[in-house]
Amino acid sequence: MRIVLVGPPGAGKGTQAHVLAKTLSIPHISTGDLFRANISQGTPLGLEAKAYMDAGRLVPDEVTIGMAKDRMLQPDAENGFLLDGFPRNLGQAKALDEILAEQGIVLDGVLDLEVPEDEVVKRIAGRRLCRNDGSHVFHVVYNPPKVDDVCDECGGELYQRSDDTEEAVRVRLEEYHSKTEPIIGYYADQGLLVTISALGKVGEVTERAIGALEQKKTA
Ligand code: AMP
Repeated sequence: MRIVLVGPPGAGKGTQAHVLAKTLSIPHISTGDLFRANISQGTPLGLEAKAYMDAGRLVPDEVTIGMAKDRMLQPDAENGFLLDGFPRNLGQAKALDEILAEQGIVLDGVLDLEVPEDEVVKRIAGRRLCRNDGSHVFHVVYNPPKVDDVCDECGGELYQRSDDTEEAVRVRLEEYHSKTEPIIGYYADQGLLVTISALGKVGEVTERAIGALEQKKTA
C-alpha cells in the first residue's frame, strides 16, 4: 500500500505511522525524522533545515522534495510506503504526483488524523522522543514510558524536541492551517481522502485507521 498521513502537529502522526507501517509491512518515511537524522549527523542539508525547524517553519521545497524522493526510491519502498509529514503543501503534493507518475504508481489513500487544537497543545507539551529512533514516541501523561526518560522499546534516552516549545508550536499550527490544510481538499477531490478522529488510546486510533483504509480499498 502507498499511503500519505496528514494531520496537525501533535495529532500522533509519528506514533500511528510507526504502528501502521509495522502492521502493513511497509517502510515509514518521515521527512521530519530524515531532517532530524541529517541534523544529528551535521550534514549541510541538516544545517540548512535546522533554523527553519527550530522556528516551526516549513523547510523550503527545493530541499524537502529531493530528500523525500531519494528516500521513496530506495529498494525497501518499491512495494509500498507510508509517508508521514510529506507532502506538507500543494507544491509538494504536485511534486509527489509527478514522482508517482514517473514510477507508474498511485496512492491508495490519504489518512487525515483529526484532533481539536487544545488537545494538540497538550499532546505536544508532554511529548518525548527516543534519541535512537524518532518513531519511538511517548507522552508523559498519555503514553508514559515504564521508566522515566527511558525508551520502552530500545532503552534509548528520551528527550523533548527543540521545536516543541510554545512559540514554535504556535508557528507550526499556523503553517499547518495556511499551507498544509489545502492538501486535504486536493486529495478529497481525487477521492483519496480518509478522515478519522485521532482521539483516544493509541491502539484505538490504529484500529480505526486500519478499518478506514481497508474500507477505502474495497470501496
Ligand atoms: P515533523 O517531525 O513531521 O513534525 O516535522 C518537524 C519539522 O520538520 C517541521 O515543523 C518542518 O520544519 C520540517 N518538515 C518536516 N517535513 C516537512 C515537509 N514535508 N516540508 C517542509 N518542512 C518539513
